[in-house]
Amino acid sequence: MTPTAPLTDSHLAFARRQDRIDGLGHYRARFIGTRAESDDPSAPLPNPIAYLDGNSLGRPTTAAAERIAAFITGAWGTRLIRGWDDEWMELPLRIGDDLGRAALGAGPGQVFVGDSTTVLLYKLARAAVDARPGRTEIVLDSDNFPTDRYILEGIAAERGLTLRWITSDPAAGVTPEQVRAVVGPNTALVLLSHVAYRSGFLADMKTITRVAHTQDALVLWDLSHSVGSVPVELDLCDVDLAVGCSYKYLSGGPGAPAFGYVHRDLQDVLAQPIQGWMGTKDIFLMGPGYVPATGIRRFMSGTPAVVGMLAMQDTIAMIEQATIAEVRAKSVALTEFALTLVDDWLAPMGVTVASPRESTHRGGHVTINHPAMRQVTTILWANDVIPDFRAPDGLRIGMAPLSTSFVETYEGVAAIRDVLRGILIGQSGGAA
Ligand SMILES: *Cc1c(COP(=O)(O)O)cnc(C)c1O
Repeated sequence: MTPTAPLTDSHLAFARRQDRIDGLGHYRARFIGTRAESDDPSAPLPNPIAYLDGNSLGRPTTAAAERIAAFITGAWGTRLIRGWDDEWMELPLRIGDDLGRAALGAGPGQVFVGDSTTVLLYKLARAAVDARPGRTEIVLDSDNFPTDRYILEGIAAERGLTLRWITSDPAAGVTPEQVRAVVGPNTALVLLSHVAYRSGFLADMKTITRVAHTQDALVLWDLSHSVGSVPVELDLCDVDLAVGCSYKYLSGGPGAPAFGYVHRDLQDVLAQPIQGWMGTKDIFLMGPGYVPATGIRRFMSGTPAVVGMLAMQDTIAMIEQATIAEVRAKSVALTEFALTLVDDWLAPMGVTVASPRESTHRGGHVTINHPAMRQVTTILWANDVIPDFRAPDGLRIGMAPLSTSFVETYEGVAAIRDVLRGILIGQSGGAA
């Protein structure tokens, strides 16, 4: 059995010290349900006690709660239909520019907020393969998020294309060498995740994009698990297309609309398949046929989800103020700390780490494996400690840098340890 008291104490002391000196620590109090970490035992407990799933659904901000309430009684309640002229029509593009500047390394006029990630993947991937007529293949990897794979299956069937699968190591991710081995003159499109949703592997965006471009293939990056925790440099990496979720690290709220990026040079070349009135040159002309807008607006389809775009604005502003470089530094420190606790407490119980050891190859979450993790997660959720479970036996510890503290990380991993130990003792008939 792992020695507990002395080690536990030194880890807790470390966590408390880190929270005290954390330059971003003050942001935590701006999220609903958190509590400023302090040594005062009478302070109210955070709710939940440890939230380690900010990479799946970010905590809401108090600013967003105020913004949403004010929106209903203010802009919606009193400006009514005039709100479209006031600002709603431009909102998807304005937030896109803000996000591009704060977190994506994207110059203005290339990012928009649109439909769900799934629908944006479809629109941009379809536009990309149609822009490479005569090419027959789409490159993707076996460990990408299900919706990404399913969308490409559908497009391949629709267009008579072949999927070229990269079999990625679930504990690592897709490497430039693997991409080099499969892209060729028949490749229309390469679709990959920047940070793998399972392992947390951080792909080499710049090199992989360059490799695809040597064959004149287009590249679409899914940023769902990197935006808001890992700096992204879309312009610098010469990325063609990207999409990402806004309800994970951006705390846009459940079902908040996703964002898309289309490189400036491609905007007037690509034709997207969901030709709606909001993407036309003159929206209120209501003309007989579809005439696409020039620029990024062309990738919009229907009426923007204005209500769904309220909350993300406050998180994007926070990221810009904190700077994405500082957010990343804290994210690395949090995952390093979680790994230290895992090595110390959980490895002796047979838990293995399924995420990269080197922080340069790791995003904002850490996945650990053990056959009992499904049961561990169920018990933890019932006890107000929230990591998440990914089959077959992975438990993900996700730390949102602006809202997760070191003590919260400590509490969460300690709870995993205690629950797992209880299960193992039960299995061995109490002999352990
Ligand atoms: C979360 C996530 C999605 C979610 O897509 P929705 O359309 O919002 O359901 C897609 N792709 C990746 C890689 C994700 O992590």
